[in-house]
Amino acid sequence: MINDPTPQLGNQSGTVAVDLPPRLPSDDTAFFGHPRGLSTLFFTEMWERFSYYGIRPLLVLYMTAALVDGGFGFDPKTAGAIVGIYASSVYLASLPGGWIADRLLGLRRSIRLGAILIALGHIAIGLSAMLSRPAFFAGLALIVMGTGLLKPNISAIVGDLYPEGGARRDAGFSIFYMGINTGALIAPIITGLLGEKVGWHWGFGAAGAGMIVGVIVFSLRQNKTLGNLGLEPSRHPDPVVQERQQRSIKTGLAMFVGALVLLVALAVSGVIQIDPVRVAESMRIVMLGIAVLYFAYLFVLGGLTGDEKKRVAVILVLFVFATIFWSAFEQAPTSLNLFARDYTDRVVFGWEMPATFLQAFNSLFVILLAPVFAWLWITLSRRGGDLSSPAKFGLGLLFASLGFFLMVAASKLVIGGHGIRVSPWWLILSYLLQTFGELSLSPVGLSSMTKLAPRKFAGQMMGVWFLAAALGNLIAGLVGGDVDPNKLEQMPALFQQTAISLLIAAVVIFALVVPIRRMMAEAK
Ligand code: GLN
Repeated sequence: MINDPTPQLGNQSGTVAVDLPPRLPSDDTAFFGHPRGLSTLFFTEMWERFSYYGIRPLLVLYMTAALVDGGFGFDPKTAGAIVGIYASSVYLASLPGGWIADRLLGLRRSIRLGAILIALGHIAIGLSAMLSRPAFFAGLALIVMGTGLLKPNISAIVGDLYPEGGARRDAGFSIFYMGINTGALIAPIITGLLGEKVGWHWGFGAAGAGMIVGVIVFSLRQNKTLGNLGLEPSRHPDPVVQERQQRSIKTGLAMFVGALVLLVALAVSGVIQIDPVRVAESMRIVMLGIAVLYFAYLFVLGGLTGDEKKRVAVILVLFVFATIFWSAFEQAPTSLNLFARDYTDRVVFGWEMPATFLQAFNSLFVILLAPVFAWLWITLSRRGGDLSSPAKFGLGLLFASLGFFLMVAASKLVIGGHGIRVSPWWLILSYLLQTFGELSLSPVGLSSMTKLAPRKFAGQMMGVWFLAAALGNLIAGLVGGDVDPNKLEQMPALFQQTAISLLIAAVVIFALVVPIRRMMAEAK
């Protein structure tokens, strides 16, 4: 996936034309010194993330809002679990999404189809007030499938723009990460204003309108700016095997979609009762099981050399600690969002800002600080103080831990004052510390996966990275619903547990820095 630099061959109508020389955009510098294709991917992903981060914080607020306020009247625990299942499925879907692109559709068709499915999902959610509650959940399912097709594959094309790899590709990814966060910055402001102040469905609708703009941008610009990249899936040299593989993929997909439709139909008709908290808990066990079996398979049957095994061992360590980090960090739309709504004084100049506004600070800080962190790592390495990826992960966990300790103090103030509202600076500073953490861990993790992965498992290792995000989102959803106005005393305990887990994780990974360094020095 991401680090497969092989350019795809084909013409613009989508048929293979192997006699054409590959159009490599590496000497194109039209977009801030980068290929113009990056601008297409930047704006498509910006609108996709606009839609994702536009509805994510609204979900918990909407589902926990009372029926009279147009919400579902769910308790925070159930709403948190649903957001956990949803966000986790979005990341988990990138595994089959990447695979479908590689084997069946090619990157470009997958991205476009994904974008269309996401837009349809938003339309279903936006119209669910008129249609029915099942339309809301069907909309979430469409967004999950669409994002699975779009998110991993759009990142893969970013990598393909730079067949030469190296620092220019890293810089390309940094610009792309800015696109992600530009969408994530403006989204909660617009959808929050509309959703919380005008009507929930206006907020959901605005997120959908953003994705429709993304579909239009990608459809109009892809042929002009992406050349031949990502037009065709990889093909097996033997046409008979190719044919057989495609048939089994199509059968597998049809069975999966059929099972999903059946499940939704059974749930909607009330034949089966779904308890989201129990589903989320079982999903956690299943996903942990998948991770354990997958790593066991790699070590035992993966045919890895001794050195490759050492690298995979490092990936395993990074996977475990990334999961712990995301379990805390991804509480933004659940516990921290509920804290913003119920216990934060959001009045500025006499006007109460929507709770979702506070979500924008993380993205704002990423946009402002990403260049600073990139500069810091480069300067450190020039001075011989290069930090290893486990050391950077340790810093990331430590910063996030500090961010959650701040929330312990803030929630104790709330309890001490019997439910008073505290200054928004608590959350803003907590987000600042968490962003320090994100910038020490997330881009470092992504590039470590591409560097450490054994060649034949390159794409799958990126999937492992998303699996950590999936697990983290699920756990964050499960614990994040514990911010309940009826159980005030739970709140500092939740934040304290999160902060202490992060701190212990930081201490453990710092202790592993030297042994890992030694092991990697041997694995040359
Ligand atoms: N905020 C980043 C994005 O939306 C990373 C999220 C993650 O990997 N958990 O792409």
